[in-house]
Formats: sequence, C-alpha cells, structure tokens
Amino acid sequence: MIYDIFVIGGGINGCGIARDAVGRGYSVFLAEMNDLASGTSSGSTKLIHGGLRYLEYYEFRLVRESLMEREVLWASAPHIIWPLRFVLPHHAGLRPAWLLRLGLFLYDHIGGRRKLPPTSTLDMTRDPAAKPLKSLYTKAFEYSDCWVNDARLVTLNARDAADRGAVIRTRTKVVSARRDADHWTLTLLDGLTGATEQVRSRLLVNAAGPWVDEVLTGVVGSNNAHNVRLVQGSHIVVKKKFDDPRAYFFQNTDGRIIFAIPYEQDFTLIGTTDQDYHGDPAEVRISDAEIDYLCAAASEYFIQPVNREHVVWTYSGVRPLYDDGASKAQEATRDYVLKADAPEGQAPLLNIFGGKITTFRRLSEHMLEKIEDRLGKRGKPWTATGTLPGGDFAPAGFDDELRKLQADYPFLDVRHAHRLFRLYGTKARVLLGTATSLADLGRHFGSDLYEAEIRYQIEHEWALTAQDVLWRRTKKGLHLSADEAAVLDGFMKNAIDRRRQIAAE
Ligand SMILES: Cc1cc2nc3c(=O)[nH]c(=O)nc-3n(C[C@H](O)[C@H](O)[C@H](O)COP(=O)(O)OP(=O)(O)OC[C@H]3O[C@@H](n4cnc5c(N)ncnc54)[C@H](O)[C@@H]3O)c2cc1C
Repeated sequence: MIYDIFVIGGGINGCGIARDAVGRGYSVFLAEMNDLASGTSSGSTKLIHGGLRYLEYYEFRLVRESLMEREVLWASAPHIIWPLRFVLPHHAGLRPAWLLRLGLFLYDHIGGRRKLPPTSTLDMTRDPAAKPLKSLYTKAFEYSDCWVNDARLVTLNARDAADRGAVIRTRTKVVSARRDADHWTLTLLDGLTGATEQVRSRLLVNAAGPWVDEVLTGVVGSNNAHNVRLVQGSHIVVKKKFDDPRAYFFQNTDGRIIFAIPYEQDFTLIGTTDQDYHGDPAEVRISDAEIDYLCAAASEYFIQPVNREHVVWTYSGVRPLYDDGASKAQEATRDYVLKADAPEGQAPLLNIFGGKITTFRRLSEHMLEKIEDRLGKRGKPWTATGTLPGGDFAPAGFDDELRKLQADYPFLDVRHAHRLFRLYGTKARVLLGTATSLADLGRHFGSDLYEAEIRYQIEHEWALTAQDVLWRRTKKGLHLSADEAAVLDGFMKNAIDRRRQIAAE
C-alpha cells in the first residue's frame, strides 16, 4: 500500500495534521520516535492564548488567529481546555497603565471573543487578587485566555486520528526517507524491538519540532539545514502560593514577562524563560540560573518569596522557532512557516517551522491546503466544529457533567471524580465501566491512581511506561513516590508483554 501522507513527529502539529487529513479522507501514517508529546508539546506554559506580549512585536496576524482559536478549541475539548482569568498588576517604572489598557483593548476586540469575559480594571487595595502580593501594586487589569492540558491535547488528536483510520506508531523513529519519483520510501526503526520496516507514501510532512532541521539533513538528506532557532524555556512548580483561582501575569524589569498559574490543585506553575539552545533537544534541562531567575522574578511580586527549596518539580522545552534573524531569543517570531520542497513531478515534502499549541488546528488547515494542491481535494475543513474524544459536552457544562459522573459513581471522592473528568471527559465512563467500588478499579498504585486508568491508557492512549502515565497523560508524578513509580513501571511492562503475547497467538 502507498499511504497518501506520512507524518514525522507525534507532537501537537503532527497529530493535528494527521487528524485533520484522515478526517478529510486521506490515508495517513504517523511515526513518533518516543512517546506522543514527549518533545516540546508537553513542555509548554499550557495556555491557549493570543499572546499579549506578541503585540509589542506587531505580530497581529498571529495574535488575531490565536485569539480566535481560544473559543474554538475550548468548545472542541472542554474537559482539557477551560477559560482562565489573568491578573496583570501595574508595576511602577515598567509599562505604563495606558499602554497595558491599550494592549488589552486590542486583545479584547481583534479576536472574535464571544463567551470569554472582557478585560476589567482591578482596585488592588480591595481586590482579593492582591492578597498574596506586595502592597506596591494598587492597580491591575484582569483579562481572559484559556488553559490547556498540552500533552493530553496531543494524545486526543492522535486518538481521534486513529479512530478515523490513521496509523499512529509510537517509539518508531524515521531513520531515512528516500524520494522515489512519485512517492517516498521511509525506513522506520522500532525503538522497542530494533526491527526495521519500510512504508511508502505520496507526500511527506516533517513535523519534527526541534528536530525539523535534523530530519531534513539526517533523514531526508537535504542541504537545507538552517531554518530553525531553538529557544529553551523552563518552568518551576512550587507548592501552592495562593488560593485565588486566577493566574498572574508579571512583568519583569528585563522587559520579559512570566506567569504564575494555579496548577494541579495543590501547586503553582511559574514560567517561563527564553534562551537560545544548542544541545540535543531531548536532553534539555533547567539550569541553576533559570531557577534563580524565575524565583527572583516571582519574588518581586509575592509577599512570601519563592526560593529554590520550594521547587518540587521543573520541566523544560525547546521552542522550534522559525529563524527570522531576530537578535534576541524573546524577539524571534512565534508565528509558523510552512515550507514546501516539492519539485514538479516528484513526491512533495512539507516542513513546519514554529507554531504554538494554540495555533495547531489552523496550522493543520493551512497544511491541508498545501496537501490538497498536490494530492487533490478530498473532504472539506471540519475541525472547527469537531470535538475531540471525551469533549462531546457543552463548554459551559463541565460542572453538570461532573455531577452526573459523581451520581453514577458515588464511590469516587470529589477530587478523584474531578480529576478523571478533567482528563478523560465523557470517556471517564469507559474507563470506569461497571465499577461500583474502588476495589473494582483494580490494583492501587498510590494517590488516586488505579489499574483501570492504567489499562485505559495502555489500550487507548499508547502509554507504555510509568513516565508516560505519570508525567504526560496525568501529572501523578507529583504525587507518587519513586518506589510507587517503579512498581507501576513493572506492572505496565508485564501488562504490555501480555498484550503482545495475546496479539501474537
Ligand atoms: C517553554 C515553552 C512554553 C510554551 N508555551 C506555550 C503556550 O503557553 N501556548 C502555546 O500555544 N504554545 C506554547 N509553546 C509552544 C509550543 O509548545 C510548541 O510550539 C509546540 O509544542 C511545538 O509542537 P511540535 O509538534 O511542532 O513539536 P514537538 O512537540 O517537539 O513534536 C515533534 C516530535 O517529533 C518527534 N520526532 C523528531 N524526529 C523524529 C524522527 N526522526 N522520527 C519520528 N519522530 C521524530 C519528536 O520526538 C517529537 O515528539 C511553548 C513552548 C515552550 C518551549
């Protein structure tokens, strides 16, 4: 068989394109060398946002498209995406209040905002948002964006693509791509067995994120190798710094900004940094200097300072930005660029540079226009109204759906039910099945993690290791001990071996 489209990379862009394409009727094969979302797509700040900061760089196209996506994406997956209000304190000596107000006026009006509430001005001598902050801040602005569980957004796109007929292979590295006139021959290396396999496709999409240039030179054998600027960004997670449900947007004295966001109920997420990166993207780690920078920037605002000792977890990602020659990393464009290498009569290669989590669906639509040019038109654009798995309920209906879930599974405590519905939406019922007690969920691995959830992730979400479960499909890594994680890993190895044996018999 010759597939229509082969996608290299199981991050948000690869999975988004695979889903859109298969939904229009193309045959699709996607290979991811590690786990889904193991690259940049689980290392973001997790905002579906216009990017208020990008207005300063006149990125109006990107900001407008991103703002418009907020409500579209919220409606498509209201379990993993939800509105979040941000408090932006006015800081004397930094951007003047009129400039913040102007930026937020544009933010409210250029992006098709319908359901999200508009900006308001806060009197910080009275507003509860001032409680954890130093008394220096007397005025603030409150505006809307959305929160997203980034890693799950990737997995749900992959799940939907597979449900519609796409082949999704994880732990499968594309090691070479040969152009044979009208088709590509890809050589795939199975990271678990070491076996190789060849697959053919009429068109190749390079959605390898930070590895996009490496795929061009090392896999495709092209000389076109300097398109991407790798920019590291890191986050720290500390024990909850405040009870307010709103997030904070803090301006720093160096002209940058950071966020402090309520995270996983008990924590605060603080980030991010921006610095050029030259190493292997798989090895990116937070540096001491970044930890100090984030602690100092947050301590400028919070009454209780943030210290190294408060840090319970960190993560880092590498932005695969299009190299537009900007002098500073923070100034490099956040917009995406799609570049075709498609000589007439030969199988096309389409490369992606840049792209936000926020813009993945529009990026996919733009990519599909390029695909249609080469492979001929099939179905129409459809993802603006299609829901992702588990997201088939009204965007404002989360609390009602959660109540129904609790009524049907009264043995779940509120936190547990809430967590399951946030991660799986209506699919939580598939995971819970006919259970009438916690014992029916099988083996207990610590915190509120039970066998039924692990089996669901193995069967439906390509989870293979404890790492996949604890740091991507859930964030239970924040709650399980190293011993508990090791037990889970052993259990998963056995469960997966057993599945393989059964499949082979
Ligand atoms: C610190 C930080 C904060 C961010 N915050 C936000 C935010 O709040 N909101 C937002 O919208 N965006 C944000 N972004 C941007 C966003 O995260 C990225 O632009 C996006 O995740 C890139 O997705 P991708 O699919 O292109 O790349 P990736 O997620 O890296 O996916 C590429 C995949 O390709 C695979 N791959 C590479 N080579 C091969 C091969 N040879 N064979 C098979 N597979 C291969 C890799 O393993 C990887 O999984 C942030 C980024 C960073 C770093």
